[in-house]
Amino acid sequence: MRLEKCWFCSSTIYPGHGIQFVRNDAKIFRFCRSKCHKNFKMKRNPRKVKWTKAYRRLHGKDMTQDSTFEFERKRNRPERYDRNVTENVLKAIKKISKVRHAREEEHHRQRMKGNKVMKLKEDAKELEQSIHLVGPLVKKDDMKKEKIIPLREDHRMEE
Ligand SMILES: [Zn+2]
Repeated sequence: MRLEKCWFCSSTIYPGHGIQFVRNDAKIFRFCRSKCHKNFKMKRNPRKVKWTKAYRRLHGKDMTQDSTFEFERKRNRPERYDRNVTENVLKAIKKISKVRHAREEEHHRQRMKGNKVMKLKEDAKELEQSIHLVGPLVKKDDMKKEKIIPLREDHRMEE
């Protein structure tokens, strides 16, 4: 069973899925779904489209440098069938995917470290900027007088 990679989003294409385009110079482009094919026809660059693997790799969103990727490398030398080797490979696949998942989670955790603080800051900023939208509902005691008075003056000027 040959698993191909989508030219646009780099996801795996299983047999019987997707579409294949052969350009007149015999270069083959494979697409996992019509979404990717359409984006290709629109001449979009996968490196500039945010949901593709190429973009995520380029912008440090995904783990790129890891020893677990070494196993998946394409080799030109065909391996002679050996029952023991196959057995070991099947065992190794499970272990490797487990290791990779753990590492990917760790990578994601590292990336999201400052996220909560940033979000809180953004929320506070938004609240400060658009507090006039809820102005009349806020009790006087909740806000400092200095902040509320100039906002009310703005309202009168608009009316
Ligand atoms: Zn795709």
